[in-house]
Amino acid sequence: MSENKDFLRTIVEKDLESNKYKQIITRFPPEPNGFPHIGHAKSICINFGIARDYDGFCNLRMDDTNPTTEDTKYVEALKDAVQWLGFKWKGEVKHTSDYFPKIYEYAVKLIKMGKAYVDSISEEQMKEYRGTVTEPGKRSKYANRTIEENLELFEKMKNGEFKDAEHVLRAKIDMSAANMKLRDPLLYRIRHATHFRTKDQWCIYPMYDFAHCLSDYIEGVTHSICTLEFENNRDIYDWVLDALELQPPRPYQHEFARLGVNYTVMSKRKLLELVNENYVNGWDDPRLPTIAGYKRRGYTPESILNFCDQIGIAKANSMVDVSQLEFCIRDDLNKKVPRVMCVLDPIKVTIENYEGSEEIEASYYPHDVPKEGSRKLPFSSEIYIQRDDFMENPIKGYNRLTPEQPVRLRYAYIITCKEVIKDENGNITEIKAEYAPNSKSGHDTSGIKVKSAIHWVEAKQAKKVEVRLYDRLYKNEAPEGLEDLNPNSLTIIKDALIEPAVINEKADVRFQFEREGYFYADPVDYSDDKPVFNKIVGLKDSWAKKSKKDESKVKTQTTQKAEKKEVIHGEAEPLTATQQKLFDRYTNELKLNNEVSNILTRDEQLSSFYEQALKELNSPISLANIVANDVAKELKEKEINELKFNASHIAQLAKMIDDETISSKIAKQVFEQMVKSGDEPSKIVEDKGLVQISDPNTILPIIDEIIEKNPENVEKFKAGNQKLFGFFIGQVLKATNGKANPKVVNELVAQKLK
Ligand code: ATP
Ligand code: MG
Repeated sequence: MSENKDFLRTIVEKDLESNKYKQIITRFPPEPNGFPHIGHAKSICINFGIARDYDGFCNLRMDDTNPTTEDTKYVEALKDAVQWLGFKWKGEVKHTSDYFPKIYEYAVKLIKMGKAYVDSISEEQMKEYRGTVTEPGKRSKYANRTIEENLELFEKMKNGEFKDAEHVLRAKIDMSAANMKLRDPLLYRIRHATHFRTKDQWCIYPMYDFAHCLSDYIEGVTHSICTLEFENNRDIYDWVLDALELQPPRPYQHEFARLGVNYTVMSKRKLLELVNENYVNGWDDPRLPTIAGYKRRGYTPESILNFCDQIGIAKANSMVDVSQLEFCIRDDLNKKVPRVMCVLDPIKVTIENYEGSEEIEASYYPHDVPKEGSRKLPFSSEIYIQRDDFMENPIKGYNRLTPEQPVRLRYAYIITCKEVIKDENGNITEIKAEYAPNSKSGHDTSGIKVKSAIHWVEAKQAKKVEVRLYDRLYKNEAPEGLEDLNPNSLTIIKDALIEPAVINEKADVRFQFEREGYFYADPVDYSDDKPVFNKIVGLKDSWAKKSKKDESKVKTQTTQKAEKKEVIHGEAEPLTATQQKLFDRYTNELKLNNEVSNILTRDEQLSSFYEQALKELNSPISLANIVANDVAKELKEKEINELKFNASHIAQLAKMIDDETISSKIAKQVFEQMVKSGDEPSKIVEDKGLVQISDPNTILPIIDEIIEKNPENVEKFKAGNQKLFGFFIGQVLKATNGKANPKVVNELVAQKLK
């Protein structure tokens, strides 16, 4: 658990210390009238998280007091969401409807105590009698009914002798209470409707304010955690439990801020409308903020949990930027998934001087991902590249293939464009190219300089796949209604081409398509014959961003505001002029990538922290990475003056990474320690013996030992199983607790296994 306790955990700890409760019991109480969304995820994390952290338990309770809107399919979706997020409820799923008989008894008890009455005025009159914030209300004449009369009427209500709305049961509290909710709130109403569980057994149903506190009490809940809009209901919650003179311990209600995310809606009514009227394809449409939607899209539970953790728990409502959620999924997948090549908009390239075919071994994972595995990429004279990786008349700054500029095919050779073939309309249909035989990746002696590497697939063995690209569902940051829907939220590409291993080997279900983003094999529509991939989230292609920016600059001068918004859809607020200047300095001068620059420029605290660190150490990229990731995370939870470290600490840390005293992996450990203790990084590294081992004399004996212990793998490797290279590297890193310098290990292992 994090050291920074939120206010709810502070309350829970006090209550445990003072012995108010022996065990913490919470509940997650959704109404089964829609699929749960990311806001519910926050509530799930809070309720189940607190129970877990304090050895208590959490109930999953369907708050099913409204027969006309509820359904078992929503119950299933709610159960699924909780489980998918990794939580377990105690025992069976609970239902408020299980307690209908008990709640009825409590109502009778209140009537007998003279604290509730059957009212029979019209709804309109009731409204009128309620008064206003400045004027007290007026009690209905029926409030004077005797206890006997009330008991009789209430029983008749229950027996179905009246029509809907003819009578209601109300608490007798105070018609002039400052809190309007206390002006004789409704406890029961008549509803002749079939309930999805109790069927036609009941025709009166308890109101939320009556049912909720009692259900909590019946289940022995200690902390009834809900969102802020129930703040005024707390007085009723307390009134009901007190009025009934229930035995302690009893539950108390605590409110936290509801989660809002921009570019989407969270109201169940609006989500229902989108689903029922087919603006989206069902509750699990990957564009929806529903848990089912995120799951189908390819989000991991970890990324959602991380997001909920990052946004924290507060008492003030706020709107969270959807890019923060996108950051979380990107961050999670970056550490996990295989990298493969898929060409979304293919154009054929014929390499005229290449003969035959070959297979190129390529690792699934980059060096900094601690996973092993590789696949073979077929290569021949016919390949496909991405259409926009070639420009016949390149604009300034274009780094990829042009008639004058060679480019590297990732993992393979450098090619040069020789001829451009076009159809009668002038569309390019094919590129004729030549390759440099001595330029193979890893063994390049060609001396040819290229500015970038592009992805590709071999023509004959590539597999056709459908790719579904999702963008934000709404074009406005704070959407109101259907008119704000983004018409381009879904693009379906029917004939993208993917390297064969993805379909044949299935190294995973989630992949990074190099240079395109993260993708997920659609769990419903995917088959090997007709593969379908959902785009989970994009990478940041600096080129795409730049051209987008240029485009919007041009457009803003000539067109209306509305159009400008559309052009930059998919991005947060435009940068202010000052921020833009800073952003340009970071990207152009300091060569930071767009994502990092974006994070820094949008947060003045971060950028000034960064500038300060820069004054101490001229290492813009290393510093930016630490500030935009690690420091930023800390500042989400703490004020800057609460931090135990400062810019010089960070400079010191970056320096140790730069001069390879420590690896960036170890740097994370050091950072965490520094956050806690405030010690200087160099001291932490020294105290804990974390210095990176780069001396071959120390590493070689370890390699020897591993080689000796694994004769079979050595043999297999020498016989051509290249995948095992990663195995040996992994073993060495493990043996040194991650302290061996990966670069050195790589070289030495390669030497030894030659
Ligand atoms: P409605 O839209 O019908 O008012 P709701 O969003 O309140 O419904 P419930 O099913 O009653 O949905 O909610 C279950 C629990 O989830 C409640 O405790 C509620 O406070 C919490 N919850 C709902 N929406 C959010 C949100 N956006 N952020 C945090 N918690 C939420
Ligand atoms: Mg609700």
